[in-house]
Amino acid sequence: MNSHEALLESMRRAVATEPNDPALRLHLAELLISAGGAQEAVPHLAAVLQIEPDNSRAGRLMSQALAPEAPKVDVPPEPDTEFDWSAAARDLGDTIPPKFVSSETETDESDEEPEPIGAVPGASNAVETFEVETAEVTLADVGGLSGVKERLNAAFLAPMRNPKLRKLFGKSLRGGLLLYGPPGCGKTFIAQAVAGELGARFISVTMSDILDMWLGNSEKNVRELFRTARANAPCVLFFDELDAIGQKRSQLRHSGMRGTVNQLLTELDGVAAGNDGVFALAATNHPWDVDSALLRPGRFDRAVAVLPPDTPGREAIFEYHLRDRPVAGIKLGQLAKQTEGFSGADIAHVCETASERALLASVSSGEVRMIEMADLLAARAEVTPSTGAWFTSARNVAMYANPDGMYNDVVAYLKQRRLW
Ligand code: ADP
Repeated sequence: MNSHEALLESMRRAVATEPNDPALRLHLAELLISAGGAQEAVPHLAAVLQIEPDNSRAGRLMSQALAPEAPKVDVPPEPDTEFDWSAAARDLGDTIPPKFVSSETETDESDEEPEPIGAVPGASNAVETFEVETAEVTLADVGGLSGVKERLNAAFLAPMRNPKLRKLFGKSLRGGLLLYGPPGCGKTFIAQAVAGELGARFISVTMSDILDMWLGNSEKNVRELFRTARANAPCVLFFDELDAIGQKRSQLRHSGMRGTVNQLLTELDGVAAGNDGVFALAATNHPWDVDSALLRPGRFDRAVAVLPPDTPGREAIFEYHLRDRPVAGIKLGQLAKQTEGFSGADIAHVCETASERALLASVSSGEVRMIEMADLLAARAEVTPSTGAWFTSARNVAMYANPDGMYNDVVAYLKQRRLW
């Protein structure tokens, strides 16, 4: 069977599985017409027109298929924005080489030293209001970070899931958890996953939103935020950029912000026991700037470092971000080895860039091709890891001010990478 026939065969199977998917049928009909199988295309086009009578592409293809001598297809290809990678991966699943190949077969030829870490500071997106989300990820979706997951499980999730334990250890469980580390390493992702694990809703707010946008009416808004969280219990309330209060301390003295902050602290103390089903989590890229009032017992009194993933972690993150894309012959182990210092977000960016490359190549050649190792390696060379600047600051802080060993994890990471 040549590759065109194999493609037709898997498209036929895909249509048989999803008979009500017009896009699949159209794609199959187009392939059939171009392969001289106009007759077989007709019932598929008829099915599409039954579902979508105004589908002009189906109409044009039908006229072609019914023409006395069906010519080769001359319908313009679908614009690339409509191309459904996941569907293509599903359809081609049986005819393409394996997605991932085992590490044993990997060669060491491109086992070069990773490039020095550069500095592209992460940007944050301010949102206007808070919204209640349903968490769709769980800790299984978070690549690597096994130490963080273990701590989350032991210190937070296990007792939260078990009311008896919670009662027994009630006092020591008070307080929320602060996730800190360089941008893009999965703090927000983990907070969402915690909500997913608890079957809880998720509300994310940034501190600067609370302080800036709600100025004037902010105390009321803070109350409203916690009220919404309680009304949606169980709910994880996630405060991003917790350091914003610290950075604005001078402003605080002179403005109405103090009331807002006090209200926030009162509310936090109120939810600390977790009895009303609201769990507070916070994140910061600048733990050294977090106002100490927020770190007192009963508030965000436990900190967990979320650092760039280790080699198995990077492998897992690559796999996570490639799992729904049409890939062939990917050596995850090699990619992981060559991306030391990359954050999860950097890896997501590499995967995105690689699939853009493959998509562009497919569009310009008119033949769909898989994302290959070469695409990922080229993308990797284009993406600069974004965690460098953070470690420069963290190193200085950890060297001169490491209260209660808060930055021990950072020091251990830097030592392991021989950067200490
Ligand atoms: P942070 O909050 O630490 O700045 P995010 O949690 O917002 O970082 O991560 C940004 C994106 O990077 C996530 O949406 C996800 O796509 C990817 N990412 C980061 N860490 C991981 C991880 N451990 N596993 C899978 N994807 C990750």
